[in-house]
Amino acid sequence: MLQIGVLALQGGVHEHLDAVRGAADKAKIPISLRTVRTARELEGLQGLLMPGGESTTMSLLLQKNSMLEPTRNIPGLFGTCAGLILMAKEVEGKMQGQEGLDVMDVGVSRNAYGAQIDSFESVLESEILPKMRIPFIRAPKITKVDEAAGVRILARLPKSNEPVIVEQRMPGRFYLGATCHPEIRTTRVHEYFLRALAAALKSA
Ligand code: GLN
Repeated sequence: MLQIGVLALQGGVHEHLDAVRGAADKAKIPISLRTVRTARELEGLQGLLMPGGESTTMSLLLQKNSMLEPTRNIPGLFGTCAGLILMAKEVEGKMQGQEGLDVMDVGVSRNAYGAQIDSFESVLESEILPKMRIPFIRAPKITKVDEAAGVRILARLPKSNEPVIVEQRMPGRFYLGATCHPEIRTTRVHEYFLRALAAALKSA
């Protein structure tokens, strides 16, 4: 049984809880699921989902609760929007004192599509998603994808071709990041995450 947590310091926690429960059912991958607010609750996790919200607030709380280091040790991480900002090694537009996990070989630029009012939905060009509209809420842009480090693009915006969902596979590890919020519309990306994580753990 996969031990999965949803980081619940702030942001869209329930959407991820629902999506990963649905995904586990559909992919027939049994999971044990919990919300995570402390370093203690991170213990033994194989996968952690990090929701959208405010990356600055989440970062400060992760630092305050001494959670950065134990989170870096979790083999599977999936971040949407603010969650991806936490994972990226390069972040443009960081607030002073904003420290992230620094684990995924991508660069992101915070709030790069504009303010809340510029939020939008789009169907994506993607090998892992059906044609459905996915919300972008004060989304970051992915500015750098380090293919040599094994980062791969899984979805793009149709006109601009900008990457919006990326993965990184390493021995025994699997990272997935999205600038958008598939968890609001579909369990597909969570199914993909559970399958890839289960495979990464098996091959380790
Ligand atoms: N703009 C937010 C940030 O920088 C992210 C928004 C979101 O998670 N939907 O943290």
